[in-house]
Amino acid sequence: MTDQKIHNILGVGFGPANLSLAVTLQELGWTGGARYIERADDFQWQDEQLLDGADIQNNPFRDLTMPRNTSSAYTFVNYLAAQGRLTDYLHLNAKFPLRREYAGYLRWVADSFHDAVDYGQSATGLSVVDTPDGEVFRLETDNGRQYLGETVVIGTGRSPRIPEVFRRSLGGTVFHATRYLSSLRRHEGRSLRVAVVGGSQSAIEIVLDLLGRSNVEQVVSIQRGIGFRLKDTSPYSRQVFLPDFIDYFYPLPPETKRRLRAELRSVNYAACDQDVIDRLASVQHEYRLMGSDRLLLKPFSEVAAVGRDGGGSVNRLVLRDVNHGTRSVYDADVVVLATGFRDFGLGPDDEPYHPLLAGIADRLALTDEGLPDVARDYSVPVERSYGGRPLRLYLNGLCEASHGMGDAGALAVLSARSTDIVESLMLEPEALVGEERLRDEALR
Ligand SMILES: Cc1cc2nc3c(=O)[nH]c(=O)nc-3n(C[C@H](O)[C@H](O)[C@H](O)COP(=O)(O)OP(=O)(O)OC[C@H]3O[C@@H](n4cnc5c(N)ncnc54)[C@H](O)[C@@H]3O)c2cc1C
Repeated sequence: MTDQKIHNILGVGFGPANLSLAVTLQELGWTGGARYIERADDFQWQDEQLLDGADIQNNPFRDLTMPRNTSSAYTFVNYLAAQGRLTDYLHLNAKFPLRREYAGYLRWVADSFHDAVDYGQSATGLSVVDTPDGEVFRLETDNGRQYLGETVVIGTGRSPRIPEVFRRSLGGTVFHATRYLSSLRRHEGRSLRVAVVGGSQSAIEIVLDLLGRSNVEQVVSIQRGIGFRLKDTSPYSRQVFLPDFIDYFYPLPPETKRRLRAELRSVNYAACDQDVIDRLASVQHEYRLMGSDRLLLKPFSEVAAVGRDGGGSVNRLVLRDVNHGTRSVYDADVVVLATGFRDFGLGPDDEPYHPLLAGIADRLALTDEGLPDVARDYSVPVERSYGGRPLRLYLNGLCEASHGMGDAGALAVLSARSTDIVESLMLEPEALVGEERLRDEALR
């Protein structure tokens, strides 16, 4: 089915990033339309890792809208009040809300925009097509729908990072953390030895979750480093989540940006919160007291090869000590890859741009390094073949390389970023034309 209407805005993905965009468009008085295309059948937020006891890492006041509009109807505080839970929540004195509670908040806001979202549609291709009024974007979905739009805002989150060694084994027993709960459900009632690869917050939460499951016989945590490391939660390091830091970071040369990101990595990556580290250390100690080997930690280890054994039902992992080079073998029924997400960049595991941009890659303004040249307002200039409507493309939550650490992996910047995008979207057409001309010149 082709939706011939030309939408003012097509949002791809309806997670927190484009949800915040929807709120901001409404609150800043956008009068054009916006249509969102979301792969999931209904609103969800990281539901594959909605684990018991997991909390969020973000001050809940920095929600979808509050930093910009304290009297918004869509704040977390309003959500609690609407549910009759504000007093209970305040009484709890919790530093951070449970992930389950925050997912409930996001869903509650998303319900207000239900009519603007087409759920169960996975965008598979983006191109530019001619219409009598000029060129527009065409978005195709996995079940044959097509949408036309003047502006596209990609808010899909990043692609899971699957280390090369696991790529051929991916499936029912080897899967990324983004498929954790649904994949594990298929093994219910089966006695399992589970390997968890990675040293991230997700990895430690999954290890703890597995240890709480009676059918899990053994959990082995495999990581290249010394063990689960503490996240850098210093308020000074956490400045990366402030809008001022984005202004500071954005104009830096690419090499300096890469250095800073590497320096500040433990603010968000391959590091965990104190509470889960304490919980795991205590569980580990108790197993030791009991003489139990239910939890195995394999620090300084990487998976060098994955084979099949036990009549093809077991994943035989060849582990290599990264310092001594010695090898050992572990047979796992299930392997969970808590290996994070792919960055956009030039590194060996990176992708140059979001896969959806492949169909318009030859029209994108590129940096000297050949990466999409993202402007401060999160737009990427798209070349037009002839005059008419400006083609406007925004990346909402995919700009860590250009805008800094807070961009891809954080709820904290949602409201500031969607405000930047909407303010840019609402620029007068004359301003847009001027801006386009400048960009066209840059493209030449
Ligand atoms: C388990 C987990 C917990 C986290 N907890 C926190 C936290 O506590 N604090 C924090 O600051 N950050 C956290 N994060 C980081 C997280 O990335 C952000 O919080 C937030 O989810 C980013 O929102 P987003 O909309 O950019 O991406 P996502 O949340 O990933 O949403 C993207 C949406 O786009 C949809 N989509 C993807 N591809 C397509 C397509 N081709 N077509 C249509 N739809 C598509 C997806 O189904 C999804 O609904 C967490 C991440 C994970 C994995």
